[in-house]
Amino acid sequence: MSQNVPITVAHGDGIGPEIMAATLLVLSEAGARIDIEAIEIGEKVYLRGQSSGIEPGAWESLRRTQVFLKAPITTPQGGGYKSLNVTTRKMLGLYANVRPTAAYHPFVHTKHPGMDIVIVRENEEDLYAGIEYRQTDDVYQALKIITRPGTEKIVRYAFEYAIRHNRNKVTCFTKDNILKMSDGLFHKVFDEIGAQYPTLEKEHWIVDIGAAKLADTPEAFDVIVLPNMYGDILSDVAAQIAGSVGQAGSANIGDQCAMFEAIHGSAPRRAGQNVANPSGLLLGAVMMLVHIGQPDVAERVHNAWLRTVEDGVHTSDIYAEGVSREKVGTREFARAVADRLGQGPERLKAVSYRATPKETIGAVATSRYRAKKELVGVDVFVHWRGGSPEQLGEQVEALSGTDLRLSMISNRGVKVYPGGFPETFCVDHWRCRFLSRSEGRTITHGQIIALLQRIGNAGLDSIKTENLYTFDGEPGYSLGQGE
Ligand code: NAD
Repeated sequence: MSQNVPITVAHGDGIGPEIMAATLLVLSEAGARIDIEAIEIGEKVYLRGQSSGIEPGAWESLRRTQVFLKAPITTPQGGGYKSLNVTTRKMLGLYANVRPTAAYHPFVHTKHPGMDIVIVRENEEDLYAGIEYRQTDDVYQALKIITRPGTEKIVRYAFEYAIRHNRNKVTCFTKDNILKMSDGLFHKVFDEIGAQYPTLEKEHWIVDIGAAKLADTPEAFDVIVLPNMYGDILSDVAAQIAGSVGQAGSANIGDQCAMFEAIHGSAPRRAGQNVANPSGLLLGAVMMLVHIGQPDVAERVHNAWLRTVEDGVHTSDIYAEGVSREKVGTREFARAVADRLGQGPERLKAVSYRATPKETIGAVATSRYRAKKELVGVDVFVHWRGGSPEQLGEQVEALSGTDLRLSMISNRGVKVYPGGFPETFCVDHWRCRFLSRSEGRTITHGQIIALLQRIGNAGLDSIKTENLYTFDGEPGYSLGQGE
């Protein structure tokens, strides 16, 4: 008998304690070899004045056990409370969010009987870096950050996941027809790493039409890997169209730590009534069992759960006259699953799990090639509401100096000077692009500082700059629309 694995458990808020009790009952009866350390997180902690929703001491348990089974929590209304999920993901480096969603037709109502997909969402980057600024009266900005190491990790994880779980195809969604550099990198890395998995089918969809196809024909997909924001939205769509948000679990995986949970929230209105469906958390716990090297227990629990659903023993969220046999509460549902341990489904497909060698998943093995990087220009953004683009253009051109030239001004990404259209709507946020006066020459940081000085002395408010670099001669910046 192998040793017990210590895990950190949070019972959460709302329906959290009930669905956690149900989940732990099934795990215990299934013979999960775990030692539980309970920590307190969520509403009570927030209301004690801890804006992160977690006590400093709880991190000690998480960092030691490196495995977190978490019930949903309630984030109090009002400002100042930080999302505990986002904090946990970032602090523990949980870069992969994995959400399997399957239809359980004909036992749970769905319009998509053949659906069986896994969404692998990048969890740390993209707009969720949370780097935002107000720059002018009218303009706010959020930075979308896509990095090569971050993308390599998530894409590699998705392919490894597909191999280990006997999946056939990995699909990538991006918007790289518009975001050619950031989403373009994600797509490029997908192609590069995908080439190392010849046995798997690979495809890429632009996210808009991909999302439409996913909502309409989810059975056409298998594993989907995508950047954070698209993944956040589409993984909820996937869970909803599969039948119920109460039924999906998720894993947040990092190189050291991992967190497992249901995808739904704390459903406060259902709390304390023994009506919540514990399936989402239970299926999250199944993923945890595979992760900690107990695939035998994971398989026993998952197959007993499938049998329970198939037997028509349903909580009220999925109960349907004529399909379900028995409407049960949270506790009775857990009892029904525990009673079926050792059994498997007869009509639904049974699952089988094997141990995943953790060390290879997420490993980033790329050469760290350094490009020849040259500073060739600067974009200076100004807050200005003086008049027409021509007026600004003439004023700024006069400030270019002897080394630099104004190559264009854009507003919300569209070139408005020189040669803009009067129809283009402009706000108080202007991007002035300066390049070297000598074609193809580099510029210096000193020239940029002198330029900013001239702009400031002329009474213009420069709110930020972006340096323009080439990498091995390739521009590291996008052109203005119409440039
Ligand atoms: P929710 O997911 O709690 O509820 C949405 C709907 O689904 C409700 O009608 C609810 O009754 C139902 N539902 C959810 N889980 C169910 C289950 N297991 N069984 C039966 N029905 C279920 O979302 P919400 O109402 O927007 O949020 C409630 C609270 O949860 C908020 O404080 C929110 O911040 C928090 N939240 C927490 C997490 C998390 O901890 N991971 C995630 C999402 C929301």
